Amino acid sequence: MMFRIGFGYDVHRLVEGRNLTLGGVVVPWHKGGLGHSDADGLVHALCDALLGALSLGDIGKLFPDTDPTYKNINSLILLKEVMGIVREKGFVLSNADTTVAMQKPRLAPYILEMREKISETLEVDVSQVSVKATTTEEMGFEGVGDGFSAYAVVLLTKA
Ligand code: MG
Repeated sequence: MMFRIGFGYDVHRLVEGRNLTLGGVVVPWHKGGLGHSDADGLVHALCDALLGALSLGDIGKLFPDTDPTYKNINSLILLKEVMGIVREKGFVLSNADTTVAMQKPRLAPYILEMREKISETLEVDVSQVSVKATTTEEMGFEGVGDGFSAYAVVLLTKA
């Protein structure tokens, strides 16, 4: 099999007193993602897409939230580990496309930095990593600011 596609989805609650970390970038905001790790749902969705492409389960299985090792961990470290597994299995990343759904704050000023951090972690060119942001028109949990969701798809190619 030459090509494998993968899909990932993640959600985190937004609460006061936590950093809002997305794509490895701390976005200034009065609320941040609640989670065992840094709650970087964008990176988590990407990890799940990479694992899913090779039917290797999900990050919850690989990095259990009951393990103190992963408490407040920078999720880019997990992403690096996941990409290492993908390479071990003989695949390279062709491209990744992601979307974060949240009403506020506006993510546009941080998108390029997210793409840079993610592509550096994956050791690919920044042009291979797309990050997009959307609101949900003030509907649903993202729309009222209770949380955010993130979606990722990847295409892997046999090395
Ligand atoms: Mg998560």
